[in-house]
Amino acid sequence: MTAALQVAASGDPIVVQGVDHFYGAGALRKQILFDVSVRIAAGEIVILTGPSGSGKTTLLTLMGALRSVQSGSVEILGQELNGASASRAAKVRQDIGYIFQSHNLLSALNATQNVQMALRLHREWSRGEIRKRARDMLESVGLADRLGNYPRQLSGGQRQRVAIARALAARPRIILADEPTASLDKQSGREVVTLMQNLAKRDGVTVLLVTHDNRILDIADRIIHLEDGRVHSLTSAVTANTQRMMELLAEQTRRGDLGRHVAGLPEDEFRDVLEKATAECQQFLEVVEMSQNEAFEGMLSQMLDIFTQKIVDIMGAERAALFLVDAGREQFYAKVATAGSSEHAPEIRVPLTSGIVGRVYQTG
Ligand code: ADP
Ligand code: MG
Repeated sequence: MTAALQVAASGDPIVVQGVDHFYGAGALRKQILFDVSVRIAAGEIVILTGPSGSGKTTLLTLMGALRSVQSGSVEILGQELNGASASRAAKVRQDIGYIFQSHNLLSALNATQNVQMALRLHREWSRGEIRKRARDMLESVGLADRLGNYPRQLSGGQRQRVAIARALAARPRIILADEPTASLDKQSGREVVTLMQNLAKRDGVTVLLVTHDNRILDIADRIIHLEDGRVHSLTSAVTANTQRMMELLAEQTRRGDLGRHVAGLPEDEFRDVLEKATAECQQFLEVVEMSQNEAFEGMLSQMLDIFTQKIVDIMGAERAALFLVDAGREQFYAKVATAGSSEHAPEIRVPLTSGIVGRVYQTG
């Protein structure tokens, strides 16, 4: 009775609470997931990011009823998987479409037959229905002219699209995708996730997509970041807001706003702002690895203009220079501001390997 009420109350298709997971036994026993809690709403597209080895695949396979839950609660479509019987787990798997890094197509079967395989589980559909459904699905992933092709006759992107068709054809309520773009080039990767996004939104499917491909983060409604087996709330908040933040920062009005704000600050408050900005930029760069991103560089350059100007004011100096190391380009980077000038501070870039600059960089 209580359990039934809880299920009715939560309603979300994926509810993970307080999950720990261990691999190995005895002295080799090692904890991989630590008190992981995640809740995903119906129709939501969530991206799970995190460094290699952080436990993403482990978490995904627990949610997919492909691995036994050891501790904590994993409730999928209202079914508790901790302690679930094999038949209940199998029932849950029927409502999940899986897409893996390597497409896992059967090489002896053509595209249509590969998709049909996944539909056989649905005993209520006739052969004719299954064939039609497979074809329709391949059409919606843009492979209408490839129905009879075998995996070896298809490109990486096309194979992954067959895998998507196969995962979606059975009308799953949840899609679990583990690095589906890992083996694809930039453009096919983008096409594949956009397709997944469109189909998921069309059919109201809940999607959990594991990736460390920063280029596709924008398709997510929400981003969850896993690090060393723990859900990282701060980092995930930063990541989740990346897209919005980039848009905000790109706005031209931004420079004026920040400039006015900083100009009016007393010295101690300015120091706080400076520290906070440094920390935020660092966090941001670590999370999204986009130090070479144009929008970010533009924003950074504007921020440095403003800060350098402020330093001139505070110190009552004629000129001030702000020095940074651009490790990516192996350059020493300086911004110079002059008192009374509101023009953009000139920028100086010198290779890190030469002259006094190089010596200072190498020796500290
Ligand atoms: P990710 O998908 O984020 O790269 P995984 O969930 O695959 O991480 O792995 C998390 C950690 O668990 C890694 O250190 C990995 O070596 C270890 N691991 C994964 N699968 C097994 C297994 N079957 N047996 C023992 N250790 C495993
Ligand atoms: Mg993995």
